[in-house]
Amino acid sequence: MSVPRTASVVIIGGGVVGCSIAYHLAGRGLRDVVVIEREAVGSGTTSKAAGGIRAQFPTEAEVRFSLESIAVFERFEEEFGVDPGYKKIGYLFLVSDPADLKGFEERMALQRRCGVDVRVIAPDEAQRLVPALRVDDLVAAVWGPDDGLAGPAEVTNAFARRARGLGARIVEGVTVTGIATAGGRVTGVTTTNGAIAAPIVVNAAGPAAARVGRMAGAEVPVHPRRRHIFYTEPFPEIPGPVPLTTDRASGFYFRKEMEQVLLSPGDVQDIGEDVEVPMDWSMVEEAVTKAVHRVPLLEQAKIAGGWAGLRPLTPDDHAIIGWAPEVEGFFLAVGFGGHGFQHSPATGRHVAAWLVEGKPAADLSLFDPGRFARGAAKAHDEGPDAE
Ligand SMILES: Cc1cc2nc3c(=O)[nH]c(=O)nc-3n(C[C@H](O)[C@H](O)[C@H](O)COP(=O)(O)OP(=O)(O)OC[C@H]3O[C@@H](n4cnc5c(N)ncnc54)[C@H](O)[C@@H]3O)c2cc1C
Repeated sequence: MSVPRTASVVIIGGGVVGCSIAYHLAGRGLRDVVVIEREAVGSGTTSKAAGGIRAQFPTEAEVRFSLESIAVFERFEEEFGVDPGYKKIGYLFLVSDPADLKGFEERMALQRRCGVDVRVIAPDEAQRLVPALRVDDLVAAVWGPDDGLAGPAEVTNAFARRARGLGARIVEGVTVTGIATAGGRVTGVTTTNGAIAAPIVVNAAGPAAARVGRMAGAEVPVHPRRRHIFYTEPFPEIPGPVPLTTDRASGFYFRKEMEQVLLSPGDVQDIGEDVEVPMDWSMVEEAVTKAVHRVPLLEQAKIAGGWAGLRPLTPDDHAIIGWAPEVEGFFLAVGFGGHGFQHSPATGRHVAAWLVEGKPAADLSLFDPGRFARGAAKAHDEGPDAE
């Protein structure tokens, strides 16, 4: 596919984040917005997401991103003319350790101040929500009834279609091979189909964010980690809907997907930045052991398949949103870990507002790209690693 010679903004990556940014930029009337996607829209790690959406985050900035995004998912069909499959199935965290519960209670106080409905419930109440659960080793559960899920493919394609309708160019099958700079400023990109001159380049490359950062001489601490998800054959013995239920002690999570049960061992594996993410089928055993411990009935279910994807994590588990400190004109929207899909509506809106108006419309300092070099990033936050 041919690429234009000039652009106002080049976005590298046509995942849910890049497409949301393109939609919001074009929606603000910015012309000549170009997205370069090396494969197809939404084919990156977005295609591996479980679709989970929660407001249970450890910081105010992230809770506000969630609430803003949930409001978009609620009226998505109205705004985009597409049913995103949004359902409020709730998120249920099963807690066995009193110290872990204390951490939840501290975070819940913040979440409640922001208007989130989240409660501690007793183990037998958790069992009333999901009768198949084993609860005798739990101290409590944390229940967010307004959390839910939607379809990552539907949402990404809706952003892309609308962005195109508003005049953005989304070029698929073309790879960005270099970022041109002069005098410490970005001047454009080189691609497998020619060069594009542009004053602003956005890195929205998901798990490839660090590699794309190096093209501009910027250090971007995004470390992709592999996670597996498996699904069973149809299993009516556990009727749906089932909240996205996470066993905090083991990291295992599950929910119902149509007639099947979707389950993950909650693994966090370093396999490098590879585009192809191989499955490790030996993970089935770990997933099944954790599953049967928490949901004994699952012993009768048969695993029908699975997939693995890379979660683009950062050292403190918060995304990186803002100008790269090393080079002018290079904007980062990366490091969304296990929550890039659910935060994509707010991310797109805030990034577009920042690029068009010259300053962020809210306090986004939590996501400041400079925090790592300054030593200001806190160590890994113990907030829920739910997806
Ligand atoms: C198993 C699993 C479960 C998950 N579950 C959830 C969940 O329940 N909820 C949730 O919110 N999130 C979930 N996530 C996380 C979510 O998938 C990501 O945070 C999100 O998809 C990131 O979107 P992105 O647009 O940044 O990345 P991507 O979708 O990877 O998009 C980046 C794009 O950049 C392209 N690209 C890279 N380099 C170049 C280049 N040089 N030139 C051109 N194009 C390039 C890639 O092809 C890719 O399409 C999950 C992730 C995994 C792996």
